[in-house]
Amino acid sequence: TADEEQMLFGNKINLEDYENNRQEIFHQQPIDTSPHTLELPKREVDILRLEVTQFQERVDRNGLKSLSAEEKSEFESRKELLHTLQKNNKNESFLLPEDYLTEEGKIDLAKKAKALKMDMKAERKQRENEWYENQVNRAQQVNQLTKLKKETVNETEKQYEYVFDQSHMIDYVPDIPEDEMKELENKIELEELIVQEEKRISSIEETKKSLPVFQFRDELLRSVGKYQVLIVVGETGSGKTTQLPQYLYEAGYGKHGKMIGCTQPRRVAAVSVAARVADEVGTRVGDKVGYSIRFDEKSSENTVIKYMTDGMLVREFLTDHDLAKYSVMIIDEAHERTLQTDILLGLFKNLLKKRPDFKLIISSATINAKKFSDYFDSAPIFNVPGRRYPVEIFYTQQPEANYLSAAIITVFQIHMSQKSSGDILVFLTGQDEIETMAENLAETCKKLEGQIKEMVICPIYANLPPEQQKRIFEPTPKNARKVVISTNIAETSLTIDGIVYVIDCGFVKENVYNATTGMESLEVLPCSKASADQRAGRAGRVGPGKCFRLYTKWVYLNDLPRNPTPEILRTDLTGVVLLMMTLGITDLVHFDFMDKPSTKTLVKALELLYALGALNERGELTNVGIKMAMFPTKPMLSKSLLASSELKCCDEVLSIVSMLEDTGSLFVNSKEKKEMAKNAHASFHSKIGGDHLTLLQIWDKFAESGFSPQWCHDNFLQYKVLQKARSVKKQLQRICRRLGLLSDGPHESEREPNTTALRVMKAITAGYFSQSARLSPRGDTYTTLSRKQPVLIHPSSTLHGAVPPVKLIVYHELVMTTKEFMRHVMPVQGKWLAEYGRNYFDKKDLL
Ligand code: ADP
Ligand code: MG
Repeated sequence: TADEEQMLFGNKINLEDYENNRQEIFHQQPIDTSPHTLELPKREVDILRLEVTQFQERVDRNGLKSLSAEEKSEFESRKELLHTLQKNNKNESFLLPEDYLTEEGKIDLAKKAKALKMDMKAERKQRENEWYENQVNRAQQVNQLTKLKKETVNETEKQYEYVFDQSHMIDYVPDIPEDEMKELENKIELEELIVQEEKRISSIEETKKSLPVFQFRDELLRSVGKYQVLIVVGETGSGKTTQLPQYLYEAGYGKHGKMIGCTQPRRVAAVSVAARVADEVGTRVGDKVGYSIRFDEKSSENTVIKYMTDGMLVREFLTDHDLAKYSVMIIDEAHERTLQTDILLGLFKNLLKKRPDFKLIISSATINAKKFSDYFDSAPIFNVPGRRYPVEIFYTQQPEANYLSAAIITVFQIHMSQKSSGDILVFLTGQDEIETMAENLAETCKKLEGQIKEMVICPIYANLPPEQQKRIFEPTPKNARKVVISTNIAETSLTIDGIVYVIDCGFVKENVYNATTGMESLEVLPCSKASADQRAGRAGRVGPGKCFRLYTKWVYLNDLPRNPTPEILRTDLTGVVLLMMTLGITDLVHFDFMDKPSTKTLVKALELLYALGALNERGELTNVGIKMAMFPTKPMLSKSLLASSELKCCDEVLSIVSMLEDTGSLFVNSKEKKEMAKNAHASFHSKIGGDHLTLLQIWDKFAESGFSPQWCHDNFLQYKVLQKARSVKKQLQRICRRLGLLSDGPHESEREPNTTALRVMKAITAGYFSQSARLSPRGDTYTTLSRKQPVLIHPSSTLHGAVPPVKLIVYHELVMTTKEFMRHVMPVQGKWLAEYGRNYFDKKDLL
């Protein structure tokens, strides 16, 4: 209570003021050293020193370089603040750094700081409570100790209060030797921590035991022991993903230096599940439990349980043909039938013969299990019966023209009309939609503040930073309702407890590939019936639920396809064909795919690989091809990188490629400062090089600013996206260095800006000639060079509406909305296309 607070900490500063100051400080504003801001409540100092200690520990362990620029500046400013505080509070011994930087102190604090990564607010609250409890306890203990030492302390209630206050506390223990006292205190604190840890463990144990798979633990392990391949089928949320690897570990599959692997189709799921399991096992992510996703790996020699994306495992085959590191592999979410999962299934079919000791578990939601069993020579199916409560389904009466606004209205309808608690899960198709909806909900809530119950809005999609991903799992506060807005990640990959209402837009964003034109684009399409049913099922996990479908029953019955199409049948295969060739699989037509891709698609892939120089006329892998396969990027990007080395602009192309890798939307579109944002963005526009060189300009300026968050903010750019690109670039750089591509850089004479731009553009063309288009004679649309398909420049491009329009361009990708739009576009010269595309184009294409 406020009284207690005042008693404990003195009412020296208003918390809100402090927060403002803190914000300022952390953005590297000059520190205000006037006394009133420095006399902070002690618990704030406590938090501050925890943070500084954490940073210090990281620096001790991995050096100052391991901190990002942002973290470094945070570290510095916090340290400085702490020092200033110490200077001004000399009589308060607990503020001296020596006190908490002792070995014991560190260990102790490291434990307390475990929750540091949590959301700022929750974190602060928890620490406040912890600190408060600690203080009360300590005060009581110290009190008792003092009594034991027969210090004549007359314990009246008043004096007891004094003990609460650290500055007074010191007066009570003048005669006990300080180290002895400290030892005792440490012991007490340690015991306290042990009790807390025990509590945490017992609650985790309880949760684990309550999951449906738990009852089948022994039977499951027996079956794994008996059969080489086992199909495990169970309702989403029954514990397959989080528990199976732990059971296997407990049964000894992690011994003798072998690992237990588990693949996930989605990056978000791999990261989030690894975090959860690390917590359950009582280890840090990257220690016993780790993960590996493209451009981000957290694992070590200690790792025994590794979650990874299916794509990363395919890549592991490149360096470890027999997967010797693993004793067992779980192919999770196999029903999703992603391209990489299908490739894995084929690769494992071969591997199983070579490694009789190896175990394979295919885990899937309740669709299509039979097909997996058939594929693996009638492998046994282990069914985990799940619980599922009835879900009432509602349809709209008429088709909704705009599902986004329908979804928003429905959320409020539920929120206001349903008295009971119960969270809402909304399925939309992508990041932009999700962010729009989240903003809209937040705005409306703000307007209605006080009139409606609180709403906790949690977006979730692949590019969401991990700290924010965690939020969706946090318990909903009393009297509030959580609204999770998700892509189909939450369909089966992630289970969020507490969902009672589901809103389903009925669409999904997918790759669509046309083998005749060789064009691939992202498209929003009706989802399958199986997906719609899975989505509805999410409402029935904790009790009876409701699902609101934003389409009519007629559409459900007549328009939705029964099952989703496996990705291998609707995507460009250039990348996987190259990988498989590198693995020595040359006869792709006779490879045992679960669903065979069309010959046309395979031929298209081979043709492009030949044109890129990855294969020779006989269809054999070339040195160029081998090098291209070393990059975890699409073959066309890899080729641009290889070409850039010859053209002496490797660093520039690396920057561009890193920003083209899907890191999320870079530009911040401020509503209030629309003009300012527009001008800021326009200042980066490249006159000659279109979107690619615009990205390069942004990168260069970002680097010039010292990778400053403030600079990003001032220029309406997402700092997080650029940070991500920076990390991607570092990793690609490493590969380039290994391949000897990053030699000395251009000579002084070659470093002239204009020629650099041209060389960069040529390098991009070397990879992207197949995605080129020419302005139509009427000057308003474009047609692709090789197949004469109509395409338009995406409105987000710097070349959109250029006067005069650019005649010849290459594009990075296609997005299909009402028409096929080219996103990330760059002007090219016909002679470059002729040069790099000589094995691709017919003569008449280029005329
Ligand atoms: P399945 O793989 O069978 O769908 P999971 O193992 O993913 O089931 O989920 C089991 C339980 O663990 C669920 O109750 C889910 O809510 C919980 N869970 C999974 N991941 C997390 C997480 N990151 N944070 C908190 N709880 C989680
Ligand atoms: Mg799962």
